[in-house]
Amino acid sequence: MTTPADFTFTDYQPYDFANRRHIGPSPSEMTAMLKVIGYPSLDALIDDTVPASIRQKTPLAWGAALTEREALDTLRETANMNKPLVSLIGQGYYGTITPPVVQRNILENPAWYTAYTPYQPEISQGRLEALLNYQTMVCDLTGLDVANSSLLDEATAAAEAMAMAERVSKSKQKIFFVDENCHPQTIALLKTRAEPLGWTILVGNPFTDMQSADVFGAIFQYPGTYGHVSDFSGLISRLHQTGAIAVIAADPMALALLKSPGEMGADIAIGSTQRFGVPVGYGGPHAAYMAVKDAHKRSMPGRLVGVSVDSRGNRAYRLSLQTREQHIRREKATSNICTAQVLLAVMASMYAVFHGPEGIKAIAQSIHQKTVRLAKGLEALGYAVEPETFFDTVTVEVGKLQSVIMKAAVAEGVNLRKIGETRIGISLDERSRPITLESVWRAFGGDFKVAQFEPDYRLPSALLRRSAYLTHPIFHMNRAESEMTRYIRRLSDRDLALDRAMIPLGSCTMKLNATAEMLPITWPEFAEIHPFVPADQALGYKAMIDDLSEKLCAVTGYDAISMQPNSGAQGEYAGLLTIRAYHLANNEGHRDICLIPTSAHGTNPASAQMVGMKVVVVKVSANGDIDMEDFRAKAQQYADTLACCMITYPSTHGVFEESVREVCEIVHKHGGQVYLDGANMNAMVGLSRPGDIGSDVSHLNLHKTFCIPHGGGGPGMGPIGVKAHLAPYLPRDPSNPDSAGTGAVSAAPFGSASILPISWSYCLMMGGEGLTQATKVAILNANYIAARLKGAYDVLYKSEKGRVAHECIIDTRPLAESAGVTVDDVAKRLIDCGFHAPTMSWPVAGTLMVEPTESETKAEIDRFCDAMLAIREEARAVEEGRLDRTNNPLKNAPHTVEDLVGDWDRPYSREQACFPPGAFRVDKYWSPVNRVDNVYGDRNLVCTCPPLEDYAEAAE
Ligand SMILES: *Cc1c(COP(=O)(O)O)cnc(C)c1O
Repeated sequence: MTTPADFTFTDYQPYDFANRRHIGPSPSEMTAMLKVIGYPSLDALIDDTVPASIRQKTPLAWGAALTEREALDTLRETANMNKPLVSLIGQGYYGTITPPVVQRNILENPAWYTAYTPYQPEISQGRLEALLNYQTMVCDLTGLDVANSSLLDEATAAAEAMAMAERVSKSKQKIFFVDENCHPQTIALLKTRAEPLGWTILVGNPFTDMQSADVFGAIFQYPGTYGHVSDFSGLISRLHQTGAIAVIAADPMALALLKSPGEMGADIAIGSTQRFGVPVGYGGPHAAYMAVKDAHKRSMPGRLVGVSVDSRGNRAYRLSLQTREQHIRREKATSNICTAQVLLAVMASMYAVFHGPEGIKAIAQSIHQKTVRLAKGLEALGYAVEPETFFDTVTVEVGKLQSVIMKAAVAEGVNLRKIGETRIGISLDERSRPITLESVWRAFGGDFKVAQFEPDYRLPSALLRRSAYLTHPIFHMNRAESEMTRYIRRLSDRDLALDRAMIPLGSCTMKLNATAEMLPITWPEFAEIHPFVPADQALGYKAMIDDLSEKLCAVTGYDAISMQPNSGAQGEYAGLLTIRAYHLANNEGHRDICLIPTSAHGTNPASAQMVGMKVVVVKVSANGDIDMEDFRAKAQQYADTLACCMITYPSTHGVFEESVREVCEIVHKHGGQVYLDGANMNAMVGLSRPGDIGSDVSHLNLHKTFCIPHGGGGPGMGPIGVKAHLAPYLPRDPSNPDSAGTGAVSAAPFGSASILPISWSYCLMMGGEGLTQATKVAILNANYIAARLKGAYDVLYKSEKGRVAHECIIDTRPLAESAGVTVDDVAKRLIDCGFHAPTMSWPVAGTLMVEPTESETKAEIDRFCDAMLAIREEARAVEEGRLDRTNNPLKNAPHTVEDLVGDWDRPYSREQACFPPGAFRVDKYWSPVNRVDNVYGDRNLVCTCPPLEDYAEAAE
């Protein structure tokens, strides 16, 4: 057949190629953008931006990029290699039912999962309310006064509680007592945390082995890992007599039926909210909680949501007491925690909102009754079941039959917990069904039906809960799914996430979290694997983790990867522990100095402090680079005790410093190791490798560069890469104290493993070439913004050739002088334009750091630039006296619908107030509150749900 003359085959690349999924600008847009910057080609721009001395020699290559369909097929095949059996292993991880309304409308909803940490309160009211519900839920269940908005996992929360106990304890002792009934991974992490700080961990039976006068604090598990439900009141009052601090690690589900830690006198309660609707996911992510007595709130680690007012006096939520945190207090912070587990905390809070106290109590009772039935059956078979009273966990002495029974159980599709050589642990949960119990009985040699055993109670009656919880109306009015759906929708509508607009946050890399990458995380083959299953049930996870590790080694130039750290800050902690262990192994344990430039991220000094290192601050010169003279001098001065330096590359000022190789050489010459903070890998992937530059260890924020969504402040993954000489000192398996390596840093061996499919899919769908192209376009987009804003704002810190890396710092300080317009005013006015502000006042006070990422199109970037230029013009109007100095759209931003009604006495129009350039008319984002008063909120601290007079009476 002849082809008609007007028919040609298109060379247009449809969506199913990397460059239209993750790369925003089209080829013709790129050409136009390059023209604005003044370059003939992308490669010419890159050659002028990334110094030749640090360019990688060989391109990233691991085969062709997969299409979306091919990648999903690969993920499916990999998932099928996992065997999601029913796991009754317990040990801190339990089967749970995610209410479908929560799964679809939160976990699978970009309005929730693509949001950023709520530092800008006006555009975060929805998630802040959900987190306040979470805090209220935790306070109610634990019987304590103040709860934070999540820690990383139960074991790290225990370590944080110990560190906090040491800070607030009146006892001068350096011993911390640990209940032998704590989960093994909790004990492992407590040891890791205590060792570098010189504290002693004493593990034992608190009722017989604890000398309260000798310790600064103690932790008890409630219920214990083997099922015991003990009353710790007496032990706690003895601890208090010597000024020591009592911590209880409590299962919130058990607390629905049992006397609370607060009622026992505990100072701190910690635990995991995993079983409130968050799948186990081979170890995470889930939200750990911490609650404390009011007297200790200023010493608490982690984010704390509080209630304040906006400029109209209306209620508004915000993050409270931020002066405790690493981004302000640095090495004096209460913790290094930055990214937490917000999305999972939101899910757990919604589980409580949906079920309410009656529902949660019923779920807890049902779990208990099933456990009693199970125990009765085992007893009928002649087994000794311990303990006498329990909630959901029993331990059975089986002697030599242990492996026979465990195997029989697996054949029935059930995992039991191996305890020592002769015992078996069984924990039941919300998902356990009659056939689950019958399977367990069969594994033990019994052929029973559930109906043969009466439901019963074996809770200790002295510890039955008599106090109320979840009494606030919010836990009573959303029982109908229609109301629940609307509540979740209402909250998400108050927030500005990536599903509405670009979030140009420097250093935070808010890039696309592609839908195809998100799909696999809720597949049961990934979501329902217990972290301590036998290896042959998690072969899919192993294949994925191995391949992703290999790819990350190729990207970074390192030799080994540990997937254990579940945030960037935890990666820093793990990396520094690795360095410390290396020095110790070389008889250089006295090396404890850590050089950190002033411009470093707050987590750097906070992490160094956690491993007992002393932070020595290095100056930064006027052009933003490390002050080499000062660096050389300090390295020389501390030559005998230098442990390491922590640098960020490209620098936190967004520039590829030419001197980086020299920095590494100097540190090595003086016996130190180089920690390169990998948060800015989005400027390097495919172009430059930390391992080639001379660094020894880095963390990679998979929730930045590798597409895991920020979830409104977590989850994240912060794996570390190391050179071969450090590989033997990577974190060991937390559940196996005999495994190789140094102290464990997360409760689960692979941290928050269930979100790894996101980063892996990204790598598969991009291929090495696609990843490299993404880096180049990220650099293009940043330089385009710098070029477009030229003349209106100064861009601080450029390379000698005038280029920035993947982000740029825009100086708004001149506006403060000329027009009284602060960086805060600019940030809030951007909300009126429909944007989340860039990173504010970091690393330079009074400036904005903009990072567009490769995902944003030219149109969206132009909208942002138009908004920034319009803001400059408004400031000019103030400068020239055309707008009032204090009563102007910048000072009064953000504007809300309240500004559209009632009297209007401002010297500018409502039109100008609400519809500045950049703002959409039909799809206008309306901030739900006017500017939030931060000072008021800290002075009048309220961290649980306030009485909601505008809510209807509690409805059933
Ligand atoms: C984000 C970031 C971190 C911390 O990562 P988290 O996951 O939030 O703990 C550390 N350093 C830099 C430079 C960062 O941007």
